[in-house]
Amino acid sequence: MTDLTSLTIAEAREGLASKSFTSLELTDAHLAAIEAARSLNAFVLETPDKARDMARAVDARIAKGEGGPLAGIPLGIKDLFATRDVRTTACSKILGNFVPPYESTVTSQLWRDGAVMLGKLNNDEFAMGSSNETSCFGPVVNPWRREGSNTALVPGGSSGGSASAVAALLCMGATATDTGGSIRQPAAFTATVGVKPTYGRCSRWGIVAFASSLDQAGPIARTTRDAAILMRSMAGHDPKDTTSVDRAVPDYEAAIGKSVKGMKIGIPKEYRLDGMPAEIEKLWTEGAAWLKAAGAELVEVSLPHTKYALPAYYIVAPAEASSNLARYDGVRYGLRVPGRNIGELYEGTRAEGFGDEVRRRVMIGTYVLSAGYYDAYYLRAQKVRTLIKKDFEDCFARGVNAILTPATPSAAFGVGEKGGADPVEMYLNDIFTVTVNMAGLPGIAVPAGKDAQGLPLGLQLIGRPFDEETLFSLGEVVEQAAGRFTPTRWW
Ligand code: GLN
Repeated sequence: MTDLTSLTIAEAREGLASKSFTSLELTDAHLAAIEAARSLNAFVLETPDKARDMARAVDARIAKGEGGPLAGIPLGIKDLFATRDVRTTACSKILGNFVPPYESTVTSQLWRDGAVMLGKLNNDEFAMGSSNETSCFGPVVNPWRREGSNTALVPGGSSGGSASAVAALLCMGATATDTGGSIRQPAAFTATVGVKPTYGRCSRWGIVAFASSLDQAGPIARTTRDAAILMRSMAGHDPKDTTSVDRAVPDYEAAIGKSVKGMKIGIPKEYRLDGMPAEIEKLWTEGAAWLKAAGAELVEVSLPHTKYALPAYYIVAPAEASSNLARYDGVRYGLRVPGRNIGELYEGTRAEGFGDEVRRRVMIGTYVLSAGYYDAYYLRAQKVRTLIKKDFEDCFARGVNAILTPATPSAAFGVGEKGGADPVEMYLNDIFTVTVNMAGLPGIAVPAGKDAQGLPLGLQLIGRPFDEETLFSLGEVVEQAAGRFTPTRWW
């Protein structure tokens, strides 16, 4: 039954409704695929018993005609989402074997709608990274390889497990989170579709916090339609997250196939970087041509503060992280390294529990928030953030419906290839994605082509606040024009 894993969510939904197969069969096919793909290291915890129990229960509901919109669909869950009675670690040693007694709002909505949990997916420690190499469980391997090469490539990060698992047909879709690009960049590296919703669209409750004013949950799937199906279940108001917005959740799937005729698409000149690979430039031009052929109008726009986005992000995000991570002190959760007094307990636990990148962020964050440096760094970064947001507002005020950019400045790179000596080399991956988080806007990454070595490349569309529907309509136009890309199985 392995071919069941190559169905899209939309196709599986039909097969389940017409009783061509059961959720248990679909779930078993995925569990077998996961078992055969352990070399990818995408899952940090497999939950086969729970998956089968959930599948059986949903099969009974389907038989009674009571299945929800995701009835019987097996999903993977990023290990940043708290799952009740199932170990949740954010892929950090400091959380140890933490088993939450509660469920995140986003995942509880997926289960409410009938989805089945296959297990927990690998990610960069506390979602800090762009390659999934900072995880305490080790790196995830991208199912894509360069033509004629066996070099292990990263799937991007921080949602690397989610992207790798979806691309390798280990789950039909996955949850992910995006603080500076962690949904869109791994999607681009693996030829999957990733959606970073508007800030406030999905509840952050029960998701391990990284930088709370930037964090958003979203789906990674194999098609824009599948991403739209997942988004509808993930989105919604939650009184437990005061930044979640009380706004009706539209039927995102209805936006798929909607005409984009007359839409104004902005092409920001500041995203044309010096030294940008010609392939990325070509992909961008091609994407613009596809949207034009579908009836959209292309306009050049200016986002003048783009060049400050990355430095400002790497002040704001560590500042918030240093505050959020203060709670891991060896007293309340996970790892505890005993000491002769409370100071030693804190120091020992945090030194032992956090990896290098997390420690670096905590130190930067503490520094930029400290008396004497606060105004020079944190306050100034906040002002830059306001200017970045205003750039987008000015653009949308001119009638622009969405903005088209490349998703990443390169294709997937090798495991261990980047950021070793210079962390900034890794941070540069987020150059096209962080502005969107800084402004709180929605963004989608859609597979759009391949580079000369046969690796996938993605395009990004940035939308107006709460206008994810337009992104789904435009994303599908790109998907239709580019076709779908599947890695050749080697694992
Ligand atoms: N790569 C970025 C960082 O390391 C973004 C991570 C994310 O979106 N979670 O901060």
